Amino acid sequence: MIRAAVLGPSGRMGRRVIELVAARSDMEVAAAIDHPSSPLVGQAVAGAQVTGDLAALRGCDVYVDFTTPESTEAAARAAAEHRVAAVIGTTGLGRGSEQAVATLAEVAPVLVAANFSLGVNLMLVLAETAARALGGGFDLEIVEAHHRHKRDAPSGTALALARALAAGRGVELETVLTTARSGDIGARPEGEIGVVAVRGGDVIGDHTAFFLGEGERLELTHRAGSRDLFAAGALRAAAWLAGRPAGRYTMRDVLGL
Ligand code: NAD
Repeated sequence: MIRAAVLGPSGRMGRRVIELVAARSDMEVAAAIDHPSSPLVGQAVAGAQVTGDLAALRGCDVYVDFTTPESTEAAARAAAEHRVAAVIGTTGLGRGSEQAVATLAEVAPVLVAANFSLGVNLMLVLAETAARALGGGFDLEIVEAHHRHKRDAPSGTALALARALAAGRGVELETVLTTARSGDIGARPEGEIGVVAVRGGDVIGDHTAFFLGEGERLELTHRAGSRDLFAAGALRAAAWLAGRPAGRYTMRDVLGL
């Protein structure tokens, strides 16, 4: 039985994660940890009493984190003390949270993914292949759309997609990425990779990679129809990760892509 801790059980993702953990026969909800100010603290969710204290990670095999960059940083530091495996889906991580996650990976297995769906992870492979095969004659653009509450832009998935395109071209993403165009910007610089973020309504997550050539264009599109596919993918990763040696792993490892 895998002892799983769920962070942010009051959140859109955390709520589904904790319900799906409770429904699995190979996992149990060993801890439910929310922001200390959450109204859920002290209440029972999926058979566990929600706490605001990260010390509850102690004794868990793995934790699943879909929260905020600040929370991800604090959790990674606490998990390093107790050597708990981590499945992290929080996006928009900054330097502090990235550093805390890297430190955790020295003592426990860690998997960070901007997207846990099989379709998106396959799309990353296809996008890299297409960028490599089509070459510099095609301009690369990404358009993503998400619900009105999303904090970070562009989405972590759009950035992962942009990174896959850059890898296909053999360039560093940071040298070619543009996320804003406005005013008299002139002709499109050669080799640029543009990312556009659309926000509104209840869109769970749509991503399209455009390969724009002369006289033809290729579009790869993924549309998420339910948050459950991210939650289920994260739990598949958690079951795969628990008990592995310390280090960094990816969804490509889990899915065998
Ligand atoms: P949300 O705002 O609905 O939930 C965030 C949760 O984090 C809340 O429950 C909040 O109480 C909790 N939280 C905040 N600070 C905390 C702390 N210090 N300790 C414990 N919990 C804390 O957000 P959401 O829509 O569920 O998304 C959460 C994150 O997951 C975002 O970064 C989003 O981009 C990302 N996400 C990733 C994937 C993926 O497949 N990787 C899919 C969907 C969303």
